[in-house]
Amino acid sequence: MAIQRTFSIIKPDATKRNLTGAVNAVIEKAGLRIVAQKRILMTRAQAETFYAVHAARPFFGELCDFMTSGPVVVQVLEGENAIATYRDVMGATNPANAAEGTIRKLFALSVGENTAHGSDAPETAALEIAQFFAGNEIVG
Ligand code: ATP
Ligand code: MG
Repeated sequence: MAIQRTFSIIKPDATKRNLTGAVNAVIEKAGLRIVAQKRILMTRAQAETFYAVHAARPFFGELCDFMTSGPVVVQVLEGENAIATYRDVMGATNPANAAEGTIRKLFALSVGENTAHGSDAPETAALEIAQFFAGNEIVG
């Protein structure tokens, strides 16, 4: 399996509850390396661009409101099969369906306030990383 990079966001529900370190501990325990990280307040335009694929969904407005409601921590994670590994570590979108020990089972409040984002494919990972990081901000 190849070393891969994925894009992660620790969402406002988690930063509000001071859970950045707790989420990072789960990430690192899973063997993923945090090779870039910064805490930002997303603008509305950034959130709408980031979630453009969901623009037609009924929850789009609520999703963009939430993602701009407080600080987020954007990250690049690196490791073997990082995209699928991180999706496993996050658990199901709805915490009610998430497996034991996953980030969303441990910390998420609801399907909307679900603590973490992780890219779903190599193409989206590359686009998402490029939206938030310059190449020289990522140090593997
Ligand atoms: P993410 O893209 O954040 O990693 P995901 O890939 O598991 O999550 P998506 O289907 O891409 O889930 O949905 C993107 C985000 O939109 C979810 O993480 C969640 O915050 C929000 N969302 C999804 N479904 C709903 C819903 N039914 N109601 C409210 N918010 C939702
Ligand atoms: Mg998604």
